[in-house]
Amino acid sequence: MTYKRRKYHRGDTHLKKGWRTKRRTKDLDEIDEDLKDENVKKLLNQEVDLDKPGAGQYYCVHCARHFINNTALQDHFTTKVHKRRLKALELEPYSIEESEKAAGKGSYIVPKKRKIETLTRDSFKMDADSEHTPQAKVAKVDA
Ligand SMILES: [Zn+2]
Repeated sequence: MTYKRRKYHRGDTHLKKGWRTKRRTKDLDEIDEDLKDENVKKLLNQEVDLDKPGAGQYYCVHCARHFINNTALQDHFTTKVHKRRLKALELEPYSIEESEKAAGKGSYIVPKKRKIETLTRDSFKMDADSEHTPQAKVAKVDA
């Protein structure tokens, strides 16, 4: 994050917001960790937790946010915040190894760009189906 200023002006709430911890969500590198297959499945199939919005059943992995119902979740997928987040997640997070390479140790490899798609529980159901029916996969390759 950016450099923390010592003094704030009176009209500076938007600057302070970045440092608040009350509604603090996960950092991008933490979300990157969540996007690994086994973690995603866990996050999308959470146990019913009544303390969480929507009992923890409607979760956006990319934004690390819970939603109250499926409509709210689907709505969220079409918003700017969500799309911006998908774009931000396309680049792999920086690692120490990478910064050393950039500084001249070894050869620097440009971070890979990934295609991030919105993940829902349904997207995993479809995955499981196509594994059982190999013909479906072949048809996809042809198209
Ligand atoms: Zn989202």
